[in-house]
Amino acid sequence: MSLKTYKNFINGAYMANDSGETFDVINPATGKVIYHVEVADEKIKQQAIESAQRGFATWSAMDAMTRSRLLLKAVNLLRERNDELAKIEVLDTGKPWQEASVVDVLSGADSIEFFAGLAPGIEGNQQSVDGDFYYTRREALGVCAGIGAWNYPLQIACWKSAPALACGNSMIFKPSEETPLGALKLAEIFTEAGIPDGVFNVVQGAGDVGAWLTHHQDIAKISFTGEVGTGKKVMAGAATSLKDVTMELGGKSPLIIFNDADVDNAVSAAMLGNFYTQGEICTNGTRVFVEKSIYPVFIEKLLQRTRDNIIVGDPMDEKTNFGALISAKHFELVMKYINIGIDEGATLAHGGKALQPADAPNGYFIAPTIFTDCTDEMTICREEIFGPVMSVLTFDGEEEVIARANATEFGLAAGVFTQDITRAHRVIHKMDAGICWINSYGLSPAQMPVGGYKQSGIGRENGLATLNHYTQLKAVYVGLQPLDSPF
Ligand code: NDP
Repeated sequence: MSLKTYKNFINGAYMANDSGETFDVINPATGKVIYHVEVADEKIKQQAIESAQRGFATWSAMDAMTRSRLLLKAVNLLRERNDELAKIEVLDTGKPWQEASVVDVLSGADSIEFFAGLAPGIEGNQQSVDGDFYYTRREALGVCAGIGAWNYPLQIACWKSAPALACGNSMIFKPSEETPLGALKLAEIFTEAGIPDGVFNVVQGAGDVGAWLTHHQDIAKISFTGEVGTGKKVMAGAATSLKDVTMELGGKSPLIIFNDADVDNAVSAAMLGNFYTQGEICTNGTRVFVEKSIYPVFIEKLLQRTRDNIIVGDPMDEKTNFGALISAKHFELVMKYINIGIDEGATLAHGGKALQPADAPNGYFIAPTIFTDCTDEMTICREEIFGPVMSVLTFDGEEEVIARANATEFGLAAGVFTQDITRAHRVIHKMDAGICWINSYGLSPAQMPVGGYKQSGIGRENGLATLNHYTQLKAVYVGLQPLDSPF
């Protein structure tokens, strides 16, 4: 059976490229090509810009209540098609159906619903000054570009388009080459919901297509999700025309467990924060700091639950709770880090090897991996691995652990487990991180702003704060009296 070839989505419809160039998309659980996608060539790029400009003109002229209603129709369509869309995410990413069917599509829909609700409430201020007055308007930016990573493809497309469109902008979105289908399905849904043609366009291709977006002078803003190194290139590209940027980048986040913590909950957090989505989550608490006095009980429970409760296999099997890594290349990278961990003297307490589940023997699976006896200087404790590799460290006191937790160039997330309410807030307030949890980990509702400190990012996604990242403020001074002039 010949495989399907998807095209770019421009001006409310699929558009064929002229070059005929395509790339393959592989199911990480089987290693097999599942479909092809046309690369955005010069024609597609030109049409994407023109389409987004027309889309912006129409969309920004609509009143916000109308925009809101159309976005809410898209929310309903996303929820109705949850299973169909979740399956796409499982086949593209290798993550378990068990997760995608309850998180990926729904968390995307939630974000669109949240911003659709806010859209008609966006307003300016006014103030009297010296007998005159001024007022402010929050205006859309224009054509925005979104560039996404491969771990939550549809959710990322939703989290970027939701505030962009709610504020009256249009968007050109480039998904990761590894997971290009979710964004196309979102584009179809926006069109079906009645959102005007050109408001949301999808261009396909690798980093060069992303780089083209970042440099294009007709694009007002780039919202990027990906690695710190790529983020720096994107920001440099955006600087060529002084674009606004939002950067959602990587992390090496600390999870701090004090000796008065509920140990079972803390183990849940450590496992969620390292093994959910087989470890491919930016906010993961990959440096697990455990206070020395509870270390024995913590590690015993952690190892037991990792041995007993993780089910690796075909991600589409609803029993599977731990899937395949995104690609052969990423598999090699994660294995390399595991070997570095061993070479640098960490104790491999669990995992550390490739797996070949009976129902998915050719997938890119790596066992959930736990290193103990880790030190702050080890490579596995300093660099983002973006796989199922947990480093457990011990500590003796609050001041010590705060300093060690913050000793990183990243600042995406942090978690604290303690029953002492005063200490919980005191410690979390000292964390150099944008997304923090107390006695919880990883939850990120649409209402909550997320984004990084230090090299983990700029700007925020979700939450009220994001409205400011997709609008610009115009101040209008209104003279009510004759203009005083020396001339
Ligand atoms: P990459 O940085 O490799 O890629 C991200 C996107 O940028 C992809 O669409 C990629 O295209 C594109 N790209 C590559 N080069 C350029 C360039 N020069 N200019 C513009 N765009 C470019 O990240 P990954 O896809 O590997 O994702 C993993 C990373 O994402 C991790 O570091 C993770 O922490 C981070 N992340 C951060 C999140 C957050 O919210 N803070 C959330 C999720 C992930 P292509 O892949 O097609 O080559």
